[in-house]
Amino acid sequence: MPSREALRLQLHASILERDAAQSIAEVCDRLDFLEVCCPEDSWLAEEMEKLGASVGRVGLFNGFDLFTSKGERRLLSVVREHKPQDVFLSPVCKAWSQANFWNSGNPERVQALLRLKKKSRRMLLCCRRVIALVQSYGGNAHLEQPTGASSWMEEHLLKACRSLTKARFNGCAFQLRHPKTRRLICKPWTIATTDAELAMKLETRRCSRDHKHHQLTGDDVGRSEKYPRAMCRFISKHIYDREHLSWTAYVQALRDAELAELELDSEDTWEEICGLGIRIEQNKHNK
Ligand SMILES: [Zn+2]
Repeated sequence: MPSREALRLQLHASILERDAAQSIAEVCDRLDFLEVCCPEDSWLAEEMEKLGASVGRVGLFNGFDLFTSKGERRLLSVVREHKPQDVFLSPVCKAWSQANFWNSGNPERVQALLRLKKKSRRMLLCCRRVIALVQSYGGNAHLEQPTGASSWMEEHLLKACRSLTKARFNGCAFQLRHPKTRRLICKPWTIATTDAELAMKLETRRCSRDHKHHQLTGDDVGRSEKYPRAMCRFISKHIYDREHLSWTAYVQALRDAELAELELDSEDTWEEICGLGIRIEQNKHNK
């Protein structure tokens, strides 16, 4: 019978083999969820936090100006250092809105829009680089834009989306309502994601066409940018379930493999040996 320390080292080695890109310390220290281009009090990160995830938020409020290369460098170093399991990006979409069409007759506004588009392309490039980095270590990346935004046709997003699955859905299917009229708002959103299962679930949330909508005016547009609480809960629950199940299955698989291989003769011995795996699971969900 090998010593307990030898068994512990063996288990340690099998974990490393399973995920060679990470050390145990990195697994324990990494962020679960990073929301990019969000406000300080974003509901999506808040819902992830309620489920026990370690979260980070990145936006202008904490000095991440992703219109600039300095902001991009800072964000990439955060992602490299913390390797968030899920990164949710919602780049500013003002330059790509269909509403800009109405400014096309005003030369000054056209020039201002061209300048804004140039800056916004910089931000899309940053998002593309973040998505590639997240994919390189096996994380999940999700990028949201309004469905009608012309950013989807921009080179950087077209290239970033080659390996992603797109899901289209509507705000009304998540109870997005106008605060005064209380009518549902149909706002169409698209999320491109590495998580095909999340995309499949979001696709079920299209407008059911059995209700009246509040028609958005120019004044309402900013107001409708915040994600409805139900949408935040839907996405966070999916991520939590996926991660919880994968970790539970992971520890169980290790347990089965080690039990078969080592022919352990008591549960007590096993509990001591597999403490390492269980501690990782607890760290992940008790933060
Ligand atoms: Zn609807």
